[in-house]
Amino acid sequence: MRVLVIEDDEAIASAIVTGLTREGFTPVRVATGAEALRSLPTDFILLDLGLPDRDGIELFEDLRAASSAPIIMVTARGAEHDRIAGLDLGADDYVVKPFGFRELVARINAVTRRTSGTDAESKVQQVGPITIDRRTRTITVDGAEIACTPKEYGILDLLARDPGAVVTRQELLDELWGPNWFGSTKMIDVHVASLRRKLGLAEAIETHRGIGFRLALTP
Ligand code: CA
Repeated sequence: MRVLVIEDDEAIASAIVTGLTREGFTPVRVATGAEALRSLPTDFILLDLGLPDRDGIELFEDLRAASSAPIIMVTARGAEHDRIAGLDLGADDYVVKPFGFRELVARINAVTRRTSGTDAESKVQQVGPITIDRRTRTITVDGAEIACTPKEYGILDLLARDPGAVVTRQELLDELWGPNWFGSTKMIDVHVASLRRKLGLAEAIETHRGIGFRLALTP
């Protein structure tokens, strides 16, 4: 798996590259945002938000637009940390410096597990008029692709893994925001409302008050 390591600090970058190589990954290290955008496509992105040439958040948005690879943000404690926690940017996870290498590998593996279907059959799924393509992370309704955010995609992806079953808010939080999120679960409702609007199928996602959500469609 090719991992794009976007990090301007030489010592941190070389430690990450050495460690990832030892773990069987194929790291590609770049030190600037401009180089990062030239180094796509990739399978996974580690993005240090404190770069010399670009605002990290803007670069994140450019990477998201240009690539469907999962992104883990790397932040300095006290710097961008609060900004990220306060904004729902749709990163797949983030780690705060200084972090242990084992923690980083565990995060990469966890994100990879939750963003990739393992068997070929689960990669394109039809539920009612909705098609979820897990290879390209796209959703189509009656053949027309909808422009969903990574979080909206993630919510539908999770609900569709077991159509008809209720998925709790906590399960959605754990899967999509990771174990380090301590914000309110209410924002999930905001993402679900937006997803419903985009799907144009008001009754497709049922809210089970106080519990969670359910995809009320049959395959
Ligand atoms: Ca930096």
